[in-house]
Amino acid sequence: MPGQGMLILLSGPSGSGKGTVCSRLINTLRGIRLSVSATTRQPRPGEVHGRDYYFMSREEFEKLTGEGGFLEWAPIYGYLYGTPAGPVREALSRGEDVILEIDVQGGLQVKEHFPDAVLIFLIPPSRSALQSRLMARGTESQPEIEKRMLWADTELGFIPRYDYVLVNDRISDTVAVVRCIVEAERSRSARFRLPQDW
Ligand code: 5GP
Repeated sequence: MPGQGMLILLSGPSGSGKGTVCSRLINTLRGIRLSVSATTRQPRPGEVHGRDYYFMSREEFEKLTGEGGFLEWAPIYGYLYGTPAGPVREALSRGEDVILEIDVQGGLQVKEHFPDAVLIFLIPPSRSALQSRLMARGTESQPEIEKRMLWADTELGFIPRYDYVLVNDRISDTVAVVRCIVEAERSRSARFRLPQDW
């Protein structure tokens, strides 16, 4: 809808660098904000409630689900993750763009309700690079890393449902391409609204 902000989704295997791309993007581009998801998993060292995630119990999460409080939600690695609907809808109606860093299950749910959403899929340069990144990150145990590698193989099957796919080799190049995609999508005639004094 013209005048409304745009939804941008960034998906890709855990360890593909989505978090870094998102934070660099919002620091270098105006008019875009990052949605903070809710999750039932435990915070990792250094993660802050309300900044990295809204950490909640399964009961709290399920209550919110029942009240229609999520734009989308999905079970991932045994936990629940979801996008709180209110802040996203409010930002969009103010004309701000919103970026969601969510998995492929959530990506498809959002695309169904917001057909104009722009879907970007990020992949690491190789399977072994992904494994090395997950190991170097040191935030997951070996069984967790194996779970994430297996799920990564499934996620790659969703690439044809996405509008863009980027190989995240050099982070600065990837951020530059994502910025170009956002700028180009903002310039679509369908999103254009004439200035009031025209
Ligand atoms: P992590 O536990 O490593 O922070 O995230 C695990 C996965 O959950 C990542 O692939 C991330 O993109 C996904 N994720 C984070 N927030 C959401 C959300 O709100 N909805 C969905 N569907 N996936 C999410």
